[in-house]
Amino acid sequence: MKRTKIIDIFSPELIGTEVSVMGWVRTRRGNKHVQFLAINDGSTIKNLQVVIDMAKFTDDDLRGVTTGSSVHVTGRLVESMGKGQTCEVQAETLKLFGTADPETYPLQKKGHTLEFLREKAHLRPRTNTFGAILRVRSTLAFAIHKFFNERGFFYLNTPLITASDCEGAGAMFQVTTLDLNNLPKTEDGKVDFSADFFGKPTALTVSGQLEGELGATALGAIYTFGPTFRAENSNTPRHLSEFWMIEPEMAFYDIVDNMDLAEDFIKYCINYALDNCRDDIDFLAQMYDKDLVDRLKFVVENSFVRLSYTEGVKILEESGRKFDFPVFWGADLQSEHERYLVEEHFKRPVILTDYPKEIKAFYMKLNDDGRTVRAMDVLFPKIGEIIGGSEREADYDKLLGRIEELNIPMKDMWWYLDTRRYGSVPHAGFGLGFERLVLFVTGMTNIRDVIPFPRTPNNAEF
Ligand code: ATP
Ligand code: MN
Repeated sequence: MKRTKIIDIFSPELIGTEVSVMGWVRTRRGNKHVQFLAINDGSTIKNLQVVIDMAKFTDDDLRGVTTGSSVHVTGRLVESMGKGQTCEVQAETLKLFGTADPETYPLQKKGHTLEFLREKAHLRPRTNTFGAILRVRSTLAFAIHKFFNERGFFYLNTPLITASDCEGAGAMFQVTTLDLNNLPKTEDGKVDFSADFFGKPTALTVSGQLEGELGATALGAIYTFGPTFRAENSNTPRHLSEFWMIEPEMAFYDIVDNMDLAEDFIKYCINYALDNCRDDIDFLAQMYDKDLVDRLKFVVENSFVRLSYTEGVKILEESGRKFDFPVFWGADLQSEHERYLVEEHFKRPVILTDYPKEIKAFYMKLNDDGRTVRAMDVLFPKIGEIIGGSEREADYDKLLGRIEELNIPMKDMWWYLDTRRYGSVPHAGFGLGFERLVLFVTGMTNIRDVIPFPRTPNNAEF
């Protein structure tokens, strides 16, 4: 008999038929006449109830059928009398795949803390919470590809190992095959990277943007979606050392086109999750965050506020609020500032533009005032910055000027400069931190809980 996934079992036409289901036992209860198993196979938040008539089975048949064990059940699917479920299986056969020793299986009872589950990251996907989060995450990843595909964007794969250390987005992890206990040295005593695998120093990428610009200025519109790495020693609920980033890059887009795309994109993804993961989102809302669905709908239904950094700083200065970090024109905004604007002042997402050039990357287009650049950060409730982007500097001389001002090693940048040397066009793009989007949609508050195996300072377990 062909196996039916539990997500497909709750359809009325299966009632009265024989089904074959496989899954993990979440709970077992009952008495000597009848036993009930709740089984889950990961396809849905819903468990399937299996009813075991002890007139047909012996205690021996059920030995080892405990929380966490895995089973194969066949039987008739019938409408359920019990509350909270539409149908159940009356078992005719039951086979145990694998036991889970009740003495050691860590997910015995419900109601573990998220902190406890982080230490059991190898098993936490079997909990309701992490099943829901991981299904939402997967659905969002699909929505992202769908959104760009529907708009004629091409999916570009940019390298993870890079030799340019000038991206400036954050500290990098070195990649080397040199023997660290016996480093080859040059005559002046420095490490001889010509003996290293790539013949020069290399690191894991912090962003695919620079290569993304090469793609956009050839294919017109591309997006990347891959892992990025930042060796910042910042232990916050919003930073990972390894996270996934989506970076669209578009030729012939200015900053307004870029903002429009960013807003459409986020709304599309949230809508897609609401339409396709409603059971999971409702579960997470009920467990962790009663306002979750309202917040998601609010973001989808309302336009984002757009204002300049200068106006934003003015609002913060006039707020009378005492912040941990001082605000003044020229300061890099902290999460507390971003969240004040979003959560307290405007009460909706904000796109902040035209930041001082000193606090933004070298490739952003300089405004006519000579002091600000065409940057745009999208700021979200509970999260702070969810997207960072800009219109890029398309003028060769101006870009070179910035590179020289900032002393960026030129020899690494020749290929990037060629985009401005040959057929340069106005273009723009942004980066969305995937886990920050998953945080927002699931209502979780710690980024370690929205990626299967988080990488953070001092933690590379699993
Ligand atoms: P932040 O100010 O929050 O540290 P950033 O300005 O360094 O972020 P960008 O370089 O603009 O970030 O990266 C683009 C996007 O990637 C950010 O808007 C954010 O959503 C996400 N992001 C950046 N750093 C991290 C990180 N360490 N972990 C998870 N997501 C991140
Ligand atoms: Mn940023």
